[in-house]
Amino acid sequence: MENYDKKIAVIGGGVAGLSAGIHSLLNGYDVSIYESHSRVGGNLTAWNKKGCVIDNCIHWLTGTNPNSEEYAKWTEIGAFDGIEFHRPESLFTFSSGNKKLSLKRSSDEFFEDMLKISPDDEKRILSLKRGVEAAKRIFGIGGKDGDQRSTGVKRLFDYLKFGSYHLISIGSLGKKFKDPFLKKFICGFIGESFSALALVSVYATFTGGNGDIPKGGSNALCEAIKRKYISLGGKIYTGKKLIKAENEGENKVALYFESGEKITSDFAVITADPLSIYRKIISSPMPRSLQKTYDNRSIRRFSAIQAAIKTEGAVPFKGDLILEADEVLKKEFGCFNVLFREFSNQENFAPENANVIVVECFIPTERAKNIIALKENPRLYEIYKKRFFSTVKNLFESNVSPLNGEMIDCWTSATYNRFTQSVNGEFMSYILPPRFIPPNVPMTASGYKRIVIASQGLKPIGGLPTALNSGKAAAEKIMKIDGLKKPFGLPFKVKTVKI
Ligand SMILES: Cc1cc2nc3c(=O)[nH]c(=O)nc-3n(C[C@H](O)[C@H](O)[C@H](O)COP(=O)(O)OP(=O)(O)OC[C@H]3O[C@@H](n4cnc5c(N)ncnc54)[C@H](O)[C@@H]3O)c2cc1C
Repeated sequence: MENYDKKIAVIGGGVAGLSAGIHSLLNGYDVSIYESHSRVGGNLTAWNKKGCVIDNCIHWLTGTNPNSEEYAKWTEIGAFDGIEFHRPESLFTFSSGNKKLSLKRSSDEFFEDMLKISPDDEKRILSLKRGVEAAKRIFGIGGKDGDQRSTGVKRLFDYLKFGSYHLISIGSLGKKFKDPFLKKFICGFIGESFSALALVSVYATFTGGNGDIPKGGSNALCEAIKRKYISLGGKIYTGKKLIKAENEGENKVALYFESGEKITSDFAVITADPLSIYRKIISSPMPRSLQKTYDNRSIRRFSAIQAAIKTEGAVPFKGDLILEADEVLKKEFGCFNVLFREFSNQENFAPENANVIVVECFIPTERAKNIIALKENPRLYEIYKKRFFSTVKNLFESNVSPLNGEMIDCWTSATYNRFTQSVNGEFMSYILPPRFIPPNVPMTASGYKRIVIASQGLKPIGGLPTALNSGKAAAEKIMKIDGLKKPFGLPFKVKTVKI
């Protein structure tokens, strides 16, 4: 029998890479992760500056409800070992003029609040509520301990109610509301271009207790997954930027790093941005199905401009606050809404009597590319960042209250481009437009049967669960290529099968 102690080189130590690594180790392979940065985690990250922890990832982690499918998947990779959760009362508060509305944990309270704001929108609000409840039953997070999971014909009806939201965009859904504030609220969280299905999914996820935040934030989750990977015998090499991958004979892969090193492996899993893989790393054209998503003008991708502010004393809001961008932010920075996040629920994220706020503005890819080009001129780039800070500070002060604090960091698409090698500074996949059925993009590139691509960028919407799933799927794909079968529902250990 064959020796299954084969080597897999995983390129990139983000969630996709760690997930591919853990599943491959469980499947009996010898796994090494090669990461270009000085640490693993990729976009699941936080860093320290001026005594503050700047958490740059988890706003909500899908899969924190033990009855959900995602919970089981996070558990498989040890993500929740030793992790407790903050279960915030609201996911975000949107404020415009003198009105405010929070997406509350209790969906009854949330929809009642909507009704109080606009009784005239009752029909639309109740229909949205039915969509959200249907989604919760489909996801297995409805009711108490998931006792409202739908099956059979009921499931079919739930799919119809939920699925109908894929026929319209969030912008069109917002327009159906009579009340001007609710119109803005609907579009305020993830923007107008997404299919309304995404919005209903987010409401269902949060109100179904399936979108909480790990205590300790993004780094705590990353460390838990890394511990599992290392405990299974996985190796990590940092400072290794892959620049080229090619076949070596029939059964090997050769990988070349920027440092001049070359390694050979039986298989490789590459978790980088697909644009970087197909433009730089391998010489195979992008699959047509994926190329079409890049060429399709209604499919948008995005990045962000962000800043961290260290404030003196407490801040006058809790959790995530979204404000409408003013004209300067819209024109100069291409932002539509501005998210302010505070971290008072996390221990030791800021020194005593201080707080840290992270400000986040999503920007379309065209803007993101311009900022990457601007970074070539360090002086102008610094001016741009300072201007961003003064503009968002001004927005906050004219809508909320004086903001007593200093900018301790500012990062943009250019940072993502440098930090995760993402070509246009994007950190999620693409926005799911209404009615769009995502194509099935092959995980292997033509001519490279031993290289598997495990990128969230192959599918919308991206995010941590997509990265987790893509890593797991890559490990399963390698088993298939290797001619091995995994017994259904059992962890497959073949390492000892050496004859
Ligand atoms: C501000 C922000 C907020 C977010 N909020 C949420 C949230 O609330 N919930 C959620 O689910 N998701 C959120 N996300 C998205 C989530 O972080 C990502 O979807 C996820 O981390 C992607 O994981 P990945 O492993 O696919 O890719 P990445 O995290 O990009 O990891 C890829 C890794 O590969 C490395 N790499 C790339 N190219 C090479 C190369 N050539 N050689 C070697 N190494 C290479 C990179 O350095 C990186 O470490 C957020 C992201 C950001 C930036």
